[in-house]
Amino acid sequence: MSKTDWTKEEEEILKEWYPLIGITVNPSNSNSLMEMLNRSKYSIKRKAIRLGLKRDNQNFWTKEEVVILKKWYPLIGYRNSKIRRMLKIQSMTDLIPNKSQENIVSKAFRLGIRRDPQKGLPKGHIRCSVCLKVYTSKKYMASKGIYCKSCHSKSQTLYLKDDIIKRYATKLRHRYYQETNISPDFNEICNTMKEVFNKNKFECFFKDEYCNHLWAEELSIGHLNPVDKNKPEEIIYANNLFFLCMQHNQVMLDVKFDDLKELYSSMIKKYDKYYNK
Ligand SMILES: [Zn+2]
Ligand SMILES: [Zn+2]
Repeated sequence: MSKTDWTKEEEEILKEWYPLIGITVNPSNSNSLMEMLNRSKYSIKRKAIRLGLKRDNQNFWTKEEVVILKKWYPLIGYRNSKIRRMLKIQSMTDLIPNKSQENIVSKAFRLGIRRDPQKGLPKGHIRCSVCLKVYTSKKYMASKGIYCKSCHSKSQTLYLKDDIIKRYATKLRHRYYQETNISPDFNEICNTMKEVFNKNKFECFFKDEYCNHLWAEELSIGHLNPVDKNKPEEIIYANNLFFLCMQHNQVMLDVKFDDLKELYSSMIKKYDKYYNK
């Protein structure tokens, strides 16, 4: 057998070790793949490509990644906090997409980098830990130098929207369950409600002087096509949903829009005939 043929055992060794150590020669590591297999760098590389093996890039940091880590880790650390996610502010894993959170933490630890967003600021200056803006006075801060007032109020609005979406998703899921005895995935229902929310805003679809909602909380979910046991998917279909105030909800009940038009016009005709001549 010529040296170009690979045995099953050799292939197994390659499969096990190549993703972990690649072919980079590490002087402190006597067990390089070249030694383990007694093969050239070229031969190993070619076989690895043929087997579709990839070096696991979690352990290998490029110079650029280290530069990004050194610049941003002291300011934002590794946590992908909820408030930062909500305000769509980049986290370390967005900036270095090839690395996991644990990998970022351990690399920062090895390089001796710590998160300290207030470090190096001139006296009397304070940095918002969310948007990273530097303020010259504490009066711009919402809480003990953590969030600035602007980030705080933005997050409040978003929290509120989040809560409303969850509350209505719960109602909608319950409605679907009543009709089908199936409980749909909550996150999917939340996404549906988000769609409805973004398309129709959180207000009565009719929004006229007859609306009787004083508080947004009183709005209910209306169905363009009324709930039909035979078409349960329409209960949770975003395009079939809107918000209704109690008044308009009572008017619509479970009647289809088209039927409603006919019903009312016939009622109005009758009324006009008997009372208005
Ligand atoms: Zn801020
Ligand atoms: Zn209304």
